Amino acid sequence: MEFVSSLQCVLCDRLYPARASGLGTRTCPRCGIEGILEVQFDYQAVARRLTRRVLAARAERSQWRYRQLLPIGPASRLPDLAVGWTPLTPAPALARHIGVGALLLKDEGRNATGSLKDRASALGVVKAREARRKVIACASTGNAASSCAGMAASMGLRSVIFLPEGSPEPKVTQLLIFGATVLRVRGSYEQAYLLCQQASERWGWYNRNCAINPYLVEGKKTAGLEIGEQLGWEAPDWVAVSVGDGCTIAGVWKGFREWKALGLMERLPRMLGVQPEGAAPVTACFREGGPPRPVEPHTMADSIAVGAPRNWKKAVRAVSESGGAMIEVSDGEIAEAMRYTGRLAGVFAEPAAAASVAGLRRAVAGGIVGRRSAAVALITGNGLKDVRSAKSAVGEPFEIPPDGAGLEDILARQEILAG
Ligand SMILES: *Cc1c(COP(=O)(O)O)cnc(C)c1O
Repeated sequence: MEFVSSLQCVLCDRLYPARASGLGTRTCPRCGIEGILEVQFDYQAVARRLTRRVLAARAERSQWRYRQLLPIGPASRLPDLAVGWTPLTPAPALARHIGVGALLLKDEGRNATGSLKDRASALGVVKAREARRKVIACASTGNAASSCAGMAASMGLRSVIFLPEGSPEPKVTQLLIFGATVLRVRGSYEQAYLLCQQASERWGWYNRNCAINPYLVEGKKTAGLEIGEQLGWEAPDWVAVSVGDGCTIAGVWKGFREWKALGLMERLPRMLGVQPEGAAPVTACFREGGPPRPVEPHTMADSIAVGAPRNWKKAVRAVSESGGAMIEVSDGEIAEAMRYTGRLAGVFAEPAAAASVAGLRRAVAGGIVGRRSAAVALITGNGLKDVRSAKSAVGEPFEIPPDGAGLEDILARQEILAG
């Protein structure tokens, strides 16, 4: 916490002292649950320590290379699992397909448990340890839970997960493999969330809730920090991020803003926030102003099926400050994006992750993103986390007998034998 200066309310801008434990007051006492706090650093002090040259010499290839910009103690124990420094892979064929000048995919599926949520959960277990808690709890439909359970396992903590109905089976299986105590709540996400909060208070567990815990979202900003550094401090024109609660896009934008505050990046990218048509309350706030009207989410992209987003304010602010845009995509477009991202770039995205690529394509078609633009799409989670959705997007393999009858026909139809 060496460089943390204060916590600032996103609604009233009041400053509060940062408490090392991350426990106690989580939201602004004046604004209540809507008054989400944001960690502020002493950027002048950080700037003296964190220069381009210092960073270039750093061997640490994980999100911990930005330790001075994370709200953790200098001697705190870190999980051993790999988090961050995910590859930023050029995808020229995909760029041509969606109609932009250049496209890079930041593959967050390469994190230890297969999603960007590892960045936040890694911070969660560090804070839980700092607060001497032995149990970390989480209510989530999937990735937040599986990353919480995995990171907890690597730190020797127990994890308790409250799962609403309807989570994809592979994500539930991950939890059980990581030794979590998994409770399937017969009810809505809201109910699971409340139960988790009450149980955490009652039994003194560390509650991993990204939306209102100001420390955890700091992990997500490292994705933005990495994009800046990996591109040699030159911003792309656009960064596309799928939006559920809104912490991810707000976090990524905070990363860019901090590089600017430290004088390491001059120009910053525009943020493109993407939501499914069946769960787009943040997009509505962006267009018509907030607060959001809660919706009943309907989308195949379970990770962003959020009807009552807690971080809409931060998300909308990030997109506006960057001069960016928000866009909606249909489930059909998401399924299509899963197929062409796999086929043209070799990257297997879960539906919520493919949504960013689908959104970029829509934004190009709608004239929002220019055809000569350079874009980065955040692939927030690995496709193997939701095999059922992937299968529904691609269909079945060909069946052939062992003597190979019909093989030539199939190859011709697939245009593998043509010419
Ligand atoms: C959580 C998640 C998101 C969106 O993050 P929010 O902070 O809820 O906006 C996007 N994609 C995947 C795969 C996720 O797990």
